[in-house]
Amino acid sequence: MKAGKRQKARNKLSVNNDHCRRYGFCVAEAPSLFQLSENGGLRYRRNVEPEQVEEARAAVRMCPTLAIVLAEGE
Ligand code: SF4
Repeated sequence: MKAGKRQKARNKLSVNNDHCRRYGFCVAEAPSLFQLSENGGLRYRRNVEPEQVEEARAAVRMCPTLAIVLAEGE
């Protein structure tokens, strides 16, 4: 059994794959959230914990193609 459900409003990340060019700036800014795989694909965590929000915001700012969207929950 899972240890209690968190509040519904959460911080969510999404990346527009049509815009992402796999530059990896997001990986440098937020390594706990983004990874480049060996085949060059971008992986990322959709759920952002409160302590990761600053990293996520930095990644949003640094992405040259504006591919990252962070929807911040309450
Ligand atoms: S910084 Fe933007 S373009 Fe570069 S890998 Fe991350 S999401 Fe893709």
